[in-house]
Amino acid sequence: MKAIVKAKAEKGLWLQDVPMPQVGVNDVLIKVKKSAICGTDLHIYKWDAWAQKTINTPMTIGHEYVGEIVEVGSEVVNYKLGDRVTAEGHIACGFCRNCRRGRKHICDNTVGIGVNRDGGFAEYVSVPVENVMKIDASIPDEVVSIMDPLGNAAHTALSFPLVGEDVIVTGAGGPIGAMAIAIARFVGANNILGSETSEYRIKLAEKMGATKVVNPLQSSISQAMEEMQMVSGFDIGLECSGSPYAFKDMLAHMYNGGKISLLGLLPETTQVEWDRLIFKGLTLKGIYGREMYETWYHMEKMLLSGLDVTPVITHRMHYTDFQKGFDVMEEGNCGKVILDWE
Ligand code: NAD
Ligand code: ZN
Repeated sequence: MKAIVKAKAEKGLWLQDVPMPQVGVNDVLIKVKKSAICGTDLHIYKWDAWAQKTINTPMTIGHEYVGEIVEVGSEVVNYKLGDRVTAEGHIACGFCRNCRRGRKHICDNTVGIGVNRDGGFAEYVSVPVENVMKIDASIPDEVVSIMDPLGNAAHTALSFPLVGEDVIVTGAGGPIGAMAIAIARFVGANNILGSETSEYRIKLAEKMGATKVVNPLQSSISQAMEEMQMVSGFDIGLECSGSPYAFKDMLAHMYNGGKISLLGLLPETTQVEWDRLIFKGLTLKGIYGREMYETWYHMEKMLLSGLDVTPVITHRMHYTDFQKGFDVMEEGNCGKVILDWE
């Protein structure tokens, strides 16, 4: 079969013929229809420091996809051939303390599909049945193919109650920040201020439902707050940029007692004004992946009851043009890029 492979320990990805994946007794084989490029895939493509220490080559990458079940292992009972599915990208061990207390998203032994084992940038992908999600047929393939990052956004946004709250989203035009804005709007937040440095992505954040989006390189959050007639700070912060500057700015504009979801991967050297955090009585929560599987339940139900994230999909191309997809991701003038495998 054809697959997009991290074949060499250097920048790039290679379209290759690889053997069909093995299907274990508790696995299903999915024929991929569409897959989406994630920031993680871009790290692997670029072969940055994180990729170098994480990825064993050769590796078929990709963990955002939708497809159809074409084979089931002998122990699989809940799914059948022809089911339209996607899959949770984190495989939890099922035995560690966190798994056993229902917190599989913070399993001690997580294995990432398309990171630690072969993934979905291929004609076929084999995954453990426990990870497989059959999503309501009325939700389009494209949207199902991005439910992994949508789940990051949902986990980030729904970690604290948002009804009537003033929310700040940093990294507002990145795919995850943008979808977090759509969710915050959908569940009834009051003001949603986005902060984003890319002009292309500022427009995306606006489309997704932000009340206002500031470019911190050009204007300030305080000014935006004045324009929105906000007197105190933000009740909720959704950090989706991974930028120390954005996080610092967020901390400075939180209202006392505020709560922050930290999704963006901040560098180790990030400095925090601890006294500000302490005297304001802020709560910080690290967000990893999606809650298994409550976030998936919430996503499906929100999509069925009117949540629209489709503006985040900005580019579509055939998988043989994957290089163009990575070029546009690298340049940053995009939301989600979808590869078509049909
Ligand atoms: P992305 O890099 O596409 O988006 C980040 C956005 O932040 C970009 O649009 C960028 O222009 C913007 N930005 C950069 N500096 C900024 C600043 N100073 N102020 C405001 N905006 C700024 O990433 P993404 O795919 O949307 O993911 C968001 C973050 O979450 C990334 O850091 C990613 O590594 C991380 N991530 C975490 C998890 C998890 O499980 N915790 C999962 C996926 C991604
Ligand atoms: Zn575990």
